[in-house]
Amino acid sequence: MSIANNISQFKNEIPSHVTLVAVSKTYPIETILEAYHAGQRIFGENRVQELAPKHQDLPHDIEWHLIGHLQTNKVKFIAPFVSLIHSIDSLKLLQEVNKCAEKSHRVIDCLLQVHIAQEETKFGLSFEEAEKLLASEEFSEMKHIRITGLMGMATLTENENQIRKEFKSLKHFFDTHCQLPTANPPKDSPCGRIRPLANGSAQADCQLKILSMGMSSDYKIAIEEGSTMIRVGSLIFGARH
Ligand SMILES: *Cc1c(COP(=O)(O)O)cnc(C)c1O
Repeated sequence: MSIANNISQFKNEIPSHVTLVAVSKTYPIETILEAYHAGQRIFGENRVQELAPKHQDLPHDIEWHLIGHLQTNKVKFIAPFVSLIHSIDSLKLLQEVNKCAEKSHRVIDCLLQVHIAQEETKFGLSFEEAEKLLASEEFSEMKHIRITGLMGMATLTENENQIRKEFKSLKHFFDTHCQLPTANPPKDSPCGRIRPLANGSAQADCQLKILSMGMSSDYKIAIEEGSTMIRVGSLIFGARH
């Protein structure tokens, strides 16, 4: 199967409310261009050192997503162009993104990465930490970032129930943080509003709309559990070496 075929197959298979991020890490420019010429415009990379040069060399209507762990000292290299950062895992990192975005006269969309897997090696905030961050004074004062959703990675396991349980937990947190307290919207309604925070301030800049869950091995389960954005690498480009 060609990359173009893989892309169109995905586009046909996934529901229209789910966005496909083509994860192009480790793949060369020519390979990414194949996907680009097949109409794909959203690409994800997990390392700044790889993302920055690829952004330079590839067409500028590509939307680049940073999906991997981000060190504060690297934010400045992607702040001028990155479309979405999936991997905010500390207040300190968010403050740095805010600072670099201001220098670039931008507002950068970010997702909070929440640790839902059993593996200790995966990055991310606990639910408590995510909650605390969203309610913090520091966050409410940041003018150059927008938290538009959440990202989570399930445990790498064959146990489907385990994966499903982890995605469900993130969906539950997502729902409780984007609904108004009195509203009781239908299960699948897209949520464009966030409940007022505990301190009474309405977080105008916090609209959780994106739920980034699912990769090649588990995207089907993720979509069943409410994912709105999947990050797929190997099923599009082939196995990484
Ligand atoms: C590599 C990577 C993916 C894609 O993985 P595949 O198994 O190749 O689909 C998704 N999300 C993150 C955070 C990754 O690092």
